[in-house]
Amino acid sequence: MTVQTMPRLGLGTWELTDEDCLRAVPLALDMGYRHVDTAQMYGNEAQVGEAIASSSVDRDDIWLTTKLSLGNLKSPSSVVSSTEQSLTDLRTDHVDLLLIHWPTQIDQLEATLEAMQGLRDRGLTRHIGVSNFTAEQVTRAARAAEILTNQVEYHALLDQQKVKAATVEAGGVLTAYSPLARGQLLRDPVVVNVAGARSESPAQTALRWLLDQDDVVVIPKATSEDHLRSNLAALDLTPLSTNDRASLDDLPKDQRVIDPPFAPDWD
Ligand code: NAP
Repeated sequence: MTVQTMPRLGLGTWELTDEDCLRAVPLALDMGYRHVDTAQMYGNEAQVGEAIASSSVDRDDIWLTTKLSLGNLKSPSSVVSSTEQSLTDLRTDHVDLLLIHWPTQIDQLEATLEAMQGLRDRGLTRHIGVSNFTAEQVTRAARAAEILTNQVEYHALLDQQKVKAATVEAGGVLTAYSPLARGQLLRDPVVVNVAGARSESPAQTALRWLLDQDDVVVIPKATSEDHLRSNLAALDLTPLSTNDRASLDDLPKDQRVIDPPFAPDWD
């Protein structure tokens, strides 16, 4: 059996390397995670592959996403050869989702997507998608190919309504990366207060705010067993009340935590 739809909560693995990766990924899978997010740029595909192979969960029961790095987006041939290398490193014959990590080669977007569709036709990826695309860019991508997701930074401190609407309009879901604002959100007094009143962790409140929205998938990264368990358990918590939701809605929405020099002009 292969996982048919992207599980709503996955494990982010940026900066999860070496021993931490080899310990945390199997631990996460054993406790019930069924979705792992990696990337060529993270330099950990071989460790993620080793970790999945060492876990008690069958590869077919795991949704595995990787992303084409900037350097490998330069030509259709590097899209193909680097994906083949990723599969070798990940110890699998296919990924479930292959993403363009950043829209840096936008003039070659259609050619890149065509190469990715060729990989899908060969069974090397089941779906294709994009990451860090603006509303306009995701609309353009969806004219050329079926886009399963646009993976962007999204949490209660950042307004992403425009790109979310464009992604859904294009037929995809929004995957929220850095859903805890890399920890910043967990120190916010409003989030801490709501979490306390609900007898849950600030991370769970932050994740609930995202999970309560349609068409949103979350991929928090965690290393410790406590954090891994707490985040996964957010799936089973009750939705935020109207008042609690409004408290998080009212937080400032201009706190972008990921903004490298090669980022597009955000919406
Ligand atoms: P994040 O998930 O928002 O935050 C991770 C940080 O929060 C880590 O320091 C982690 O600590 C801590 N944490 C996790 N769970 C916690 C809990 N329950 N209580 C307290 N602290 C907790 O940040 P992120 O890693 O930037 O984003 C998640 C994933 O999104 C990445 O790993 C990656 O897979 C993906 N991503 C994609 C892009 C892209 O360009 N497409 C960019 C950024 C991220 P410990 O590790 O010590 O547990």
